[in-house]
Amino acid sequence: MAATAQDYYLGWLRDAQAMEKQALTMLQAQDPRMADYPDIQARIRQHAQETEMQLTRIQQILDRHDADGSLVKDLAARAMAGSQALGGMMASDEPVKAAMMSYTFEQMEIASYLSLIATAEYVGDALAIPVLQTTLDEEIEMANWLEENIEEVTRLFLETAEADPGMALRAGGF
Ligand code: MG
Ligand code: FE
Repeated sequence: MAATAQDYYLGWLRDAQAMEKQALTMLQAQDPRMADYPDIQARIRQHAQETEMQLTRIQQILDRHDADGSLVKDLAARAMAGSQALGGMMASDEPVKAAMMSYTFEQMEIASYLSLIATAEYVGDALAIPVLQTTLDEEIEMANWLEENIEEVTRLFLETAEADPGMALRAGGF
């Protein structure tokens, strides 16, 4: 069976769903590791809540299309494999690496929603466009926040590490 634009649209929505599940897992794993960095911890918690809403938005779009085709399932299986590989990169406890990985992840999310919005326009799903735009705006906000705070996280971490040289080892930093 030849894939239509609508098939790709539903498959890519499933990709985004898998990506957001991975995002939520990452954010929840980072939360307790950021106890010494209250500003970051607060922002991570905010974005975890946003991510739960993003998952709901995608589910509502999928429900509206009653998406259950076999091709869609194939594409979804592929998406899960890809996102698990990315999640494995998030193994370090070190806050600097976590901030870098989060920034990279947000860029992937931004690219995904830019493409999804273009696809929704292409297939004529006008209802989905403002919904996907809301999520895109949240991802851009998070990416901007990380970009503005990566240097500060790095300085804070180095100050803490110098004040307590055993800390990095205990945190699994080296
Ligand atoms: Mg997201
Ligand atoms: Fe995000």
